[in-house]
Amino acid sequence: MQRRTFLASAAVTGAMAALQPGLALAETQNPLTQKWAGPFGGVPAFDKVKVADFKPALEAAMVRNLAEIDAITANKAAPTFENTIAALEDAGRMLNDVQTYYGIWGSNMSSPEFQKVEEVMDPALSAHYDKVNQNAALFARIQAVYDSPDKAKLTPEQQRVLWIYYTNFVRSGAKLSPEAKARVGAINTELAGLYTRFSQNLLADENTWIELSDADLAGLPEGLKAAAASNAATRKLPGKHVIVNTRSSVDPFLTESPVRSAREKVWRAFVNRGDNGGATDNNAIISKILKLRVERAKLLGYKTHAHWRLENAMAKTPENAMALMEAVWKPAIAQVAIDVADMQAIIDKEGGGFKLEPWDYRFYAEKVRKAKYDLDMNEVKPYLQLDKLREGMFWASGQLYGFEFKKLEGIPVFHEDVTVYEVTRAGKHVGLWYFDPYARPGKRSGAWMNAYRTQERFKGDITTIVSNNSNFIKGKPGEPVLISWDDAVTLFHEFGHAIHGLNANATYPSVSGTNVARDYVEFPSQLNEHWLSTPQVLNQFALHYQTGKPIPAELVKKIEAAGKFGQGFGTTEYLASALIDMKLHLAGDVDIDPDAFEREELAKLNMPKEIVMRHRTPQFGHVFSGDGYSAGYYSYLWSDTLTADAAEAFAQAPGGFYDKAVAKRLYEDIMSKGNTVDPVEQFRAFRGRDVKIGALMRKRGFPVPPGA
Ligand SMILES: [Zn+2]
Repeated sequence: MQRRTFLASAAVTGAMAALQPGLALAETQNPLTQKWAGPFGGVPAFDKVKVADFKPALEAAMVRNLAEIDAITANKAAPTFENTIAALEDAGRMLNDVQTYYGIWGSNMSSPEFQKVEEVMDPALSAHYDKVNQNAALFARIQAVYDSPDKAKLTPEQQRVLWIYYTNFVRSGAKLSPEAKARVGAINTELAGLYTRFSQNLLADENTWIELSDADLAGLPEGLKAAAASNAATRKLPGKHVIVNTRSSVDPFLTESPVRSAREKVWRAFVNRGDNGGATDNNAIISKILKLRVERAKLLGYKTHAHWRLENAMAKTPENAMALMEAVWKPAIAQVAIDVADMQAIIDKEGGGFKLEPWDYRFYAEKVRKAKYDLDMNEVKPYLQLDKLREGMFWASGQLYGFEFKKLEGIPVFHEDVTVYEVTRAGKHVGLWYFDPYARPGKRSGAWMNAYRTQERFKGDITTIVSNNSNFIKGKPGEPVLISWDDAVTLFHEFGHAIHGLNANATYPSVSGTNVARDYVEFPSQLNEHWLSTPQVLNQFALHYQTGKPIPAELVKKIEAAGKFGQGFGTTEYLASALIDMKLHLAGDVDIDPDAFEREELAKLNMPKEIVMRHRTPQFGHVFSGDGYSAGYYSYLWSDTLTADAAEAFAQAPGGFYDKAVAKRLYEDIMSKGNTVDPVEQFRAFRGRDVKIGALMRKRGFPVPPGA
């Protein structure tokens, strides 16, 4: 249960019903509460999931979880690590399992019917975790173990688990007065409902589309035209062409369409998700969320929500995170000015007669790429077959960590597109990897990883089950799915998270695998992106879908040379979002109008007017569909500082990115460690020193400050 306790936020005595008659029956008969059966220590019974079963299953699992907690607090024996902390690690297993199904239905399989369940159960789950986190008798036992001189006799991992429990309970309000606890709990429950509404509004706006006229289709590459036709067919508009209002559909169109008015139409729809007035507008919800977060932070004894959130992150304070962002912001917008001048020169030379606008950026960036680096990304795409690249990332992980992947048949899946692989090392079972690659209605946009089950061994060896999810456009049967270079990078990124989970070697589940600080968790995933562009992967797996020939070395050289191009754009659109996120959560107890706040703060930052935030506030799911990345979007940059520095360790080694000694250190000091060791110490052990910013600046092609 602890895994979930930490991911959910704080606090309350609350709305959970006491033991209800009939719940015991619900537990024994509901397919979702059954212990996972089958091979590999059990696998999720995805073939048995019915939406109607979620509410009773979650309710039964919460009741069972509270009973488990009661058993811990009722123990007459003096509190020890075993009878309190280890017992907590062993509690909530049923709830974890049910929430695995629940999370997948929320992200991959959503439907109006399921959303009704979420509206009721998200607040109920929040109240449940509050009830656990603010259980006074439970905290008294945790504190007793924490204050006991016996603590010194625990293993280092046990001491860290204990410290994490203690800190998280305090951070959730365990030391507050009953009145303050009640208020924090009420806030959490209200926030949970607001988060659900925010996500559902966003999903609703992303389920809209822009219909393209014949004129809009002019000059569009055949592949994109076919995707637009297939998107229309899925939406029962045969013969038409639509761009769905998601990034995976919009970005390629903005990059490829020569029709300026069509680009503007598509761009405007996309950047206004959640900001259109009407039933799916998120602005009022955001104002309310910000207010409640400030109130909660103050009740818990912190200056702002940002201070509360960063205390247990690697950055420790918002000031540290801001300092890093500000160091990178100025060089990023300076680079954008240079790139914009290059693009404007092309527009002028073509006699365009207009100033570059945000909906032109991607299109003209491509032209600069062609002119300056002689690189046409459309020449690259035929070499990027999804299936081959998947084999490529398997192969690279084999070189680094000894993994082997074997496709399994007959394991239950939640959709026919999902495939399952067994992962072994030296013949020994390591875990399972589920892959859900394609976009579909009801699946959230973007790409992500999750762990259905975490590795642990304190109660017998339990192996992990991880999954990767993305939104590639499914091709016709038998046709290879060709993806963009950026999408290939994302594929390797998400697989890096999966590898972090698969390499886990912890005793306790709450500190295993990807259960690490959120500004550290992107480090292993970002690092894994580097293996895509190694010649070994490209020569073996970047094969032309018609000729089977590997991508020409000359083309690879061009990709490398152009690698830094676009960093100004990428860094600026990302950092604008990260800075606004932090500023929103440092603003304190004031009424915030998200639109005005965004406009004014971006003006103060001298945001280039040719670029828009990667996630505008009304669609910033990282920050407003949960506490998750709130005051935490900076984490990607923080992690990338570690990533760039670690990548240089490989680049400088005799064996380069396949250097056995560096790979061994990476496994031992970082990939296997999870949260059993402080991340600062993990990095120091791997690199032999603390992180420096120089590698990050070099990677992005920005000037390196003195001493870095
Ligand atoms: Zn990631």
